[in-house]
Parts: sequence; structure tokens; C-alpha cells
Amino acid sequence: MRKPIIAGNWKMNKTHEEAVSFIEDIKEKVPAGSKVDTVVCAPALFLKSMNDASEGSDVAVGAQTMHFEDNGAFTGEISPEALADLSIPYVIIGHSERREMFNETDDSVNKKLHAAFNHKLVPIMCCGETLEERESDKTESVVRGQVEKGFAGLSKEQAAQVVVAYEPIWAIGTGKSSTAKDANETCGTIRRILSELYDQETAEAVRIQYGGSVKPENIGGYMAMEHIDGALVGGASLKPDAFLQLVEAGS
Ligand code: PEP
Repeated sequence: MRKPIIAGNWKMNKTHEEAVSFIEDIKEKVPAGSKVDTVVCAPALFLKSMNDASEGSDVAVGAQTMHFEDNGAFTGEISPEALADLSIPYVIIGHSERREMFNETDDSVNKKLHAAFNHKLVPIMCCGETLEERESDKTESVVRGQVEKGFAGLSKEQAAQVVVAYEPIWAIGTGKSSTAKDANETCGTIRRILSELYDQETAEAVRIQYGGSVKPENIGGYMAMEHIDGALVGGASLKPDAFLQLVEAGS
């Protein structure tokens, strides 16, 4: 059985004080030993304080990106070694906003996945098609390319630990969510691709989230689907009450 995982992606929002008080607010309400993994991915500046605030609870924090090198002349970048040193457990890799606006490529995604495993970070690897690609029936070939190139060189054991976030780009931040049926179909395709790359057992172990305008009102439909094991949520993860409702729906 795959353990569901609900992850918030705050993007470039909140102040330090708001970030810490969010964790203090939700941590007592997420029951210890909860049936769902609860993750809040926040701006790097807040991660240490948020991680400290979450101690002793079942709430985990994550970074929204990182570099693949441990250190060096990479002005402004986030080091995987530094994340690991602060015991930050999760990192989002290859979010479509990073791919579109910050030159993230399948090759850098692949290097970052390897870097994540070198530092025992759990990667949440994003993939998904544009509206144009969807309308020209390219969804499968697009996600196949992203998954095959992203996972290149990962062992079976590593592959099984990757969290894949299937996020159709046209559904992110637009209010136009995919139907649960369509999202499940593409998540099932991703699982099939993983079974071809590895084997059925490995593919069955990988947790696949849906992301794209998920909110408390629609998460139930996604969570009921065979191949959807949780959600990566932007806008609706910013308010503690809404985020807790999403976590509850994931349990
Ligand atoms: C995201 O940021 O990954 C996302 C899915 O955003 P939203 O939930 O706002 O569509």
C-alpha cells in the first residue's frame, strides 16, 4: 500500500513570521502517526525555522528547488548539502515554473534527482504537458520524455522512493483543474512507463501526486483514483484551514 502524500507548494509567498506561525498552527492538528505524509514546501529562507517549529510533529518541510552541485560558484543557488545539513527531508525538482522561467531542463532534473539521493533528500519530481501538447495528443510522449530522462541512472531502490507530481501546466494556478478521470489516466500512464523502465513492483511503489488547482472541494475525487496517491497544491496550501482539509481528505 502506498502512503498518500499531500504537499503544499507556497511558491514565493509569506514572510518568515507567517511561515513559522503556519507550522505552529497546523502541527497539533496533524495527528502523530497520521495515515498521510504532510509536507510544506516553502521559500528556502524559512526552512530552518519551519523545520525547528515542526519538531515532534508529523509535519515535514521541503525546499522548492536546489542545485545539483554541493557547493561552488553558483550565486544565489541552494545547496543540497546545506539542505541535508539542516535535516530538510523533501525537495521539489523540476516544477514547471522552474522549467519555464529558470531554464530547468530534463538533464538538470536528472542531476538533481541524483544529488537528492546522494544527500538522502526525498525528491518530488514534477512533470506535465502544456495545453497545446495536450490538444495535439502529446501528453504521453511529453511525460514519457520527462520521466525517462529524469529517472536516468537511478537504481530500482531509488526510483521507488521518488514522488512524482503529475502537473498539467494548463491546470496550475488557473482554477481549471483536470478531471479526476483524466488525471488518473495520465498517472496510470506514468506508472506504466516506470514499469517498463524498471519493473511492476517498483512502479507500484512509486507515489504519484496530481497537481493543478486542487482545493478542498475537489481533492476527494482525485484521492479516490487508483493511480493518484496525493496532491501537490499551490494556492490552496497557503491557508492553514484549507491545507488541513486537504490533509484530512488525503487520510
Ligand atoms: C503548484 O504550484 O504546483 C500548483 C499545482 O499550484 P495550484 O494548486 O495553485 O494550481
